[in-house]
Amino acid sequence: MSFSQLGLRPELLRAIADSGYDTPTPVQREAIPIVLAGRDLMAGAQTGTGKTAAFVLPILQRLHASSTDVDRRAVRALILVPTRELAIQVEESVTTYGVHVPLRSVAVYGGASLPDQLRELDAGAEIVVATPGRLLDLVWRGSIDFGAVEFLVLDEADRMLDMGFIDDIRTIISLLPTERQSLLFSATFPDAIKRLTRTLLRDPATVQVTPPNSTTTLVEHVVLRVEDDQKRAALSHLVRSGRITSALVFVRTKHGADRLTGHLFRDGIRVAAIHGDRAQSQRIAALDDFKEGRVSVLVATEVAARGIDIDALPYVVNYDLPRSAEDYVHRIGRTGRAGVDGVAISLVSETELPQLRDIERLMGRPIAVEQVPGFAALAWTPSGGRRPVRGAASGSGPARNDSRRRPHEGRARAHESRQGGRPSSVPRRAGWTAIPGERTAER
Ligand code: AMP
Repeated sequence: MSFSQLGLRPELLRAIADSGYDTPTPVQREAIPIVLAGRDLMAGAQTGTGKTAAFVLPILQRLHASSTDVDRRAVRALILVPTRELAIQVEESVTTYGVHVPLRSVAVYGGASLPDQLRELDAGAEIVVATPGRLLDLVWRGSIDFGAVEFLVLDEADRMLDMGFIDDIRTIISLLPTERQSLLFSATFPDAIKRLTRTLLRDPATVQVTPPNSTTTLVEHVVLRVEDDQKRAALSHLVRSGRITSALVFVRTKHGADRLTGHLFRDGIRVAAIHGDRAQSQRIAALDDFKEGRVSVLVATEVAARGIDIDALPYVVNYDLPRSAEDYVHRIGRTGRAGVDGVAISLVSETELPQLRDIERLMGRPIAVEQVPGFAALAWTPSGGRRPVRGAASGSGPARNDSRRRPHEGRARAHESRQGGRPSSVPRRAGWTAIPGERTAER
């Protein structure tokens, strides 16, 4: 199927072609006709599925088709997103896809200059992409009028709820005209989202492009057993040995992110960090450095990494496992995007095993536990004691690859230790760096 078969106008098809896309992704194929037909939509789609274009394209088309008085420039579409990074990116997508249509857009988000955003709003924009808190600030100042809003999009709705935006969202909805089209995109559907959809959406069509609460099959999941005090050395080793290249590394706390960044830097790794205590300009610079390959590791906290868009990110590393299994789904949504295979590597200590089990439950399949290749470390054992890992290279810290080791020994043995029995039939593979097309996620 091609984009032209979806009923999009030539101006939009030209912009799509400029972006280099020839085939719509599944969420685009399903959602675009629904939105063009004027129906409310509830879509289960995570980042990386092409969901942004799935709502931006049909909204642009419908606004353009009915735009009469371009001088008036009332806000006609409101897109709510959880983070400033996502606000910037979604607004960039609106600009990219709308390059041949005379519609204006603005992004409003916290942590950036209010006067600048006010000026842009005053200049007039039909499409506003906003984080809920900043948007309400503007509402209370009387700087934005919702009277002409025809479209409401909640993007990454589950994330907005996680971040405590539910009251702001409800307030915003209460201020909108009741006659409007509403679209909700969410990677997961916890009860709070289901309740919200009941009040927000009218007779919605549903689209589900990833199985509910599961992870994309393009991502290979690797769990490496490393005790907390060995994680930093293990990660350094993985990067310096070339086992992992460009990686987004998730750390739970801002403090932890800073500490790890300092350690990696001292180990000679080109590294940058993004988290909530860093200024917007610093975050943008860090992201640019990473995208341009000037740094090979970007250390990020969960919230700061939300919505960042990096094409073809090969590795996501969970330096700490996230608190909830849903967060794991979100984190690894950063890799394996737009048809590119990715690897999600989690460094898991013994105390994190219950979280790993939650993740396995959510994904509906086990993830085999492996040793860090070529890294001699003390690993946990089922009895709670620690012993040197058999089969790993000798020596302390970053170590040589032991060619005598049978390639799959570690994986099988690790599996055995968790199962408390003999090695079971774990799929065999030689490692996770250069095996295109192999996807343990699908087993
Ligand atoms: P999203 O899920 O909206 O964050 O999009 C993920 C990535 O896929 C972005 O980098 C988009 O530029 C890209 N993308 C969106 N639609 C397509 C398409 N039809 N073909 C190829 N890439 C796409």
